[in-house]
Amino acid sequence: MTHLLELRDVTASYGPVQALFGITLDLGEGEVVALMGRNGMGKTTTIRCISRLMPHSAGSLRFAGRDVAGLSAPKVARLGVGLVPEGRRCFAPLTVAENLTVAARPGPWDMARVCALFPRLQERMGQIARTLSGGEQQMLAIGRALMTNPRLLVLDEATEGLAPVVRQEIWAGVRRLKAEGLSILLVDKSLTEIASVADRAVIVERGATVWQGGIADLTSDLTDRYLGV
Ligand code: ATP
Repeated sequence: MTHLLELRDVTASYGPVQALFGITLDLGEGEVVALMGRNGMGKTTTIRCISRLMPHSAGSLRFAGRDVAGLSAPKVARLGVGLVPEGRRCFAPLTVAENLTVAARPGPWDMARVCALFPRLQERMGQIARTLSGGEQQMLAIGRALMTNPRLLVLDEATEGLAPVVRQEIWAGVRRLKAEGLSILLVDKSLTEIASVADRAVIVERGATVWQGGIADLTSDLTDRYLGV
């Protein structure tokens, strides 16, 4: 079976410091996969390699049937990797509407659909992004990625640091995206929410995949061993 995203034994370094020692990960079309692991284990670095914000050193990394090794970040974005980076980055001085418009690429996702997913954005169309709440900025960051009409949405810690009620709005949005058939790779710390939306999980420890399987097979033994504090 060919997957939308396939990583095989991917390694990567920050200068002399090796961060990834062998990440293997598969994500099929329409699947939601959770990339899990304790702090500093290599989740964000893996996402940076997938979106070509940094090169990998060895192993293979394929998206939509293509080896992405030689491709630039904008090229991979055009191929359909929609990244929502950690820290909910938007263009701070631009309005909500401008943020969404500059990201737009042809496809089924447009401003109306993003607003249907996150109605709060509709109410804030003319507001400068910098003045939004953290949760609204996160919704805008997800909205921007959707406006690119991605084949794969990559969410890095999308609910980090948000109030519980706002987290629930984000998770409701993610569940809706899954129901609509979007492929999603997500990093998050909330096991309960991950269990409610992910099809499969990949656990990383010290920069290497140590477990990959169906979400129903993610036992408390595994979570205690690899995710416990
Ligand atoms: P967190 O949940 O805390 O974001 P993570 O699993 O996403 O953690 P990474 O951010 O990928 O982990 O970090 C993996 C390793 O790479 C860590 O040992 C980290 O210290 C190191 N690292 C991350 N960014 C850099 C950098 N810019 N320069 C050097 N080392 C880095």
